[in-house]
Amino acid sequence: MADIGIVGAGPLGLATALLLHRQGQAVRIFDARAADAPLTESRVLALSEGSRQILRSIDAWPERLCTPIRHIHVSQQGAPGRTLMDAAEHGLAALGYVLPARDLIVMLRRKVEAEGIPLHFASPVETLLPDAHGIVLRIAGEDRPQEHYCSLALCCEGSVRNAKDMLTHDYRQRALLCRASIAAPHNNLAYERFTPAGPVALLPLGQDYAVVWTRALDEADALLDAPDADWLAALQTHFGTRVRFTGISERASYPLALKMRVNTVGERTVWLGNAAQTLHPVAGQGLNLALRDAWELADALREASDPGAASVLRAYGRGRQLDRFAAAGFSDALIRTFGSSLPGLPFVRGLGLAALDALPPLRRFLARRMIYGARALP
Ligand SMILES: Cc1cc2nc3c(=O)[nH]c(=O)nc-3n(C[C@H](O)[C@H](O)[C@H](O)COP(=O)(O)OP(=O)(O)OC[C@H]3O[C@@H](n4cnc5c(N)ncnc54)[C@H](O)[C@@H]3O)c2cc1C
Repeated sequence: MADIGIVGAGPLGLATALLLHRQGQAVRIFDARAADAPLTESRVLALSEGSRQILRSIDAWPERLCTPIRHIHVSQQGAPGRTLMDAAEHGLAALGYVLPARDLIVMLRRKVEAEGIPLHFASPVETLLPDAHGIVLRIAGEDRPQEHYCSLALCCEGSVRNAKDMLTHDYRQRALLCRASIAAPHNNLAYERFTPAGPVALLPLGQDYAVVWTRALDEADALLDAPDADWLAALQTHFGTRVRFTGISERASYPLALKMRVNTVGERTVWLGNAAQTLHPVAGQGLNLALRDAWELADALREASDPGAASVLRAYGRGRQLDRFAAAGFSDALIRTFGSSLPGLPFVRGLGLAALDALPPLRRFLARRMIYGARALP
């Protein structure tokens, strides 16, 4: 039987390859980037306990590079109501773990290399041509395209492209990222603060905070080329006085949109992670959800004699819909609810946060949902 072809060597493609390799399946990875291209990835990831368990199962959990989140403070600017979530309340050492995506990619690449999984760089897959028994990956070459025949193509290329059945929403927002040094220790406390101009998340990373700061496009564009001192002042004003920032570095920005394939399964093809759904980062769900895609897919393929068989892929696709749509709906609802300026809504949101604070079962449900996905639903 031909091997399984994985398109994309980001964190998801690499982790998927390791999961499948671990259960004895032959895999091969293709990435568009050159082997020696510098890793320009500037995202910082908050990974859940569920993701930690998945990465540990392939011996790829970068324990020493992670900063644990032990408490999360959620609030809204200009209106009452706040809630505090605590890891101990959920019997966990941490509610999440923060690390630079670049560090995770480096660790996963080393692991893939150590396991002897073929990884082809400078190999952009342009076309997928399925037939009854397998699928051809057509790879753009310098002179002429090359082809690789495999049993199944797993698309982990990091964005939704060429989808006929795509749901989209342009938030007209940009995420501004930076690392902020702070005047007092963070004590592993993360913040999610909703403001009329967009949410700000502070994630403890080493001694600093990694900042994910959402702004409307025009406001963000005005800040993009501003000096660090202006960013710092704007961030401080935007976030408020709970934390005092002393400096910023490692600035970057990402445009934000929701893009979602309705079906993630085609003929001998599966789209996973960001290639299946690209979400707003407000709830830090992207890679956590992607790793659940990979875990469930590996499970579906474990006993399959033909991994590309339509019945196997259909069953996997059906099984993922609830988790995917719940995660996308949750992220989208947070942005719409906290971004709306309808009269009376800040008060209602405040009630929601106060209820969350006063009702431990509700808090537990939300925490489990964020950590384990739809499996946490009763
Ligand atoms: C601001 C921001 C904050 C975020 N915060 C979090 C968070 O806290 N927690 C979380 O879980 N998620 C978070 N996410 C989402 C997370 O970053 C993504 O889900 C994750 O990085 C995507 O990984 P990936 O492997 O799917 O894609 P990528 O990392 O984009 O990798 C895709 C790979 O595919 C390759 N490729 C592309 N096209 C081709 C082709 N045609 N042929 C071959 N190779 C190809 C690329 O070269 C690349 O190596 C955040 C996202 C943003 C924007």
